[in-house]
Amino acid sequence: MAQTSATASDELAIGLSSFGLVEEVAERARYEQDWSGDHVGRARAVARPRSTAEVQEVVRRCAAMHVPVIPQGGHTGLVGGGTPADSGREVVVSLERMNRIRGIDAAGFSMVAEAGCILAAVQDAARAHDLYFPLSLSAEGSCQIGGNIATNAGGINVLRYGMTRELVLGLEVVLPDGRLFEGLGGLRKDNTGYDLKQLFIGAEGTLGIVTAASLKLHPRPTQVETALLGLPSLTSAVELFAQARRDMGDLLSAFELMPRACIELALEVATDLHDPFDPAPVYILLEAATGGLIELRPILERFLERAVEAGHVLDGVVAASTAQARDFWRLREGLIEAQVRRGRHLRTDVSIPISVIPAFIERTEAALLASAPDCLPLAYGHLGDGNIHLNVVPPKGMVPERIDGFLQHCEAIVFAEIDRLGGSISAEHGIGTKKRAAFLARKPALQLDLMRRIKQALDPDDLMNPGRILEPAMPEGSS
Ligand SMILES: Cc1cc2nc3c(=O)[nH]c(=O)nc-3n(C[C@H](O)[C@H](O)[C@H](O)COP(=O)(O)OP(=O)(O)OC[C@H]3O[C@@H](n4cnc5c(N)ncnc54)[C@H](O)[C@@H]3O)c2cc1C
Repeated sequence: MAQTSATASDELAIGLSSFGLVEEVAERARYEQDWSGDHVGRARAVARPRSTAEVQEVVRRCAAMHVPVIPQGGHTGLVGGGTPADSGREVVVSLERMNRIRGIDAAGFSMVAEAGCILAAVQDAARAHDLYFPLSLSAEGSCQIGGNIATNAGGINVLRYGMTRELVLGLEVVLPDGRLFEGLGGLRKDNTGYDLKQLFIGAEGTLGIVTAASLKLHPRPTQVETALLGLPSLTSAVELFAQARRDMGDLLSAFELMPRACIELALEVATDLHDPFDPAPVYILLEAATGGLIELRPILERFLERAVEAGHVLDGVVAASTAQARDFWRLREGLIEAQVRRGRHLRTDVSIPISVIPAFIERTEAALLASAPDCLPLAYGHLGDGNIHLNVVPPKGMVPERIDGFLQHCEAIVFAEIDRLGGSISAEHGIGTKKRAAFLARKPALQLDLMRRIKQALDPDDLMNPGRILEPAMPEGSS
């Protein structure tokens, strides 16, 4: 017989039982840890409301008993924001059953989707109307649009379409006291006072639970060209980007950097793929896309001719089919899976001015290797956004007890270089609990003061995702 959880005797949990309460311990584990397995906690209860009214009721009941609430999407956030702490005090509110597309306005290029819609389902719904929702990231089969909004997710198309913030026209949000912020109007222009929806985008669930969003759609690109290029150096990658921006303007939609070590790692998991040409020190995965009457292929070809003449590109392949383009992207995705297979490793997500990317990568890798010659630094990412993941795989055979300390040491090296260059320690993934100390140590005092006042104004009892981004009102570990 399935084991039922301790919540069976909990007065609050009994009150939540008609809101999709997860009763079985084994099933609950799924909501108590994230995708990476790095963050694992214990929830007092897990509720899965089906409607905005149900979310309001769950939040009200928790607030009445002074119980903190953790909004949860697809568990793919990488900074511990949506995982309960191990105190067992917090109630997880999963949005997974709020997964309806409420409507699509094809003439107005917009859609209203509930927060629990998987990102890939939002993309599919747009495509079914010959439209395009451009937010795209490797986790798109699992992450939810509510989680994307809460983290202001970026991904591969930021270069052209911006971060999630640029794709949101309106929001519906349940506030920490259960009231409803109704802002789904979806106007493109509305200069009537403060744009309050912006507060909830990127707030990582600390100011309220997003229940639905009005999203901006775009014309569906009918021509997409994908090229994998081999380059002599990191400096040529920056020069090639500048040339691509000038030659192709807004047709350029992705410009991903992968040094050789990343390709080798990706080929370890994508075993049916092969090196597409003679190995090069640096690779760029480039995509350009358009619809309408523009003819894309000749523009790409002229750009590539000029890039080879200038010495920015050594070799390359333009995908001849959708399947080949998909294989190029599988290299990018395989790289992530290959790191996961190597076990615990440092994941960073930093941003710096594009022009200093080569110096940043070279200096940081040199410092890491000087400190631990057998570690594997991997620097790749959305070069066109100045967003690099400088990750570190610990030396093979490192005893598990040493790994935590090693990863902290490596992170300090990466962040020191970021501070020197005036960059950000979190370009896309956010702060959550994982980066909180580093964030609080760096953010200017005035900005922290304003953030704490906003949090206090909306959530005076600190019940909405406490301890994420800002320090909790109640010390951690107390109950
Ligand atoms: C393989 C992989 C690749 C990734 N690539 C990228 C990338 O390219 N770009 C990028 O930006 N991120 C990336 N991420 C990080 C992650 O996918 C994004 O942060 C994503 O937006 C999180 O969505 P989620 O639904 O999984 O949210 P969760 O992980 O469930 O939650 C994330 C945060 O949002 C809050 N939250 C979730 N839903 C709501 C809601 N409805 N209302 C209020 N708060 C809510 C949670 O409390 C938590 O603080 C990647 C992650 C993985 C695993």
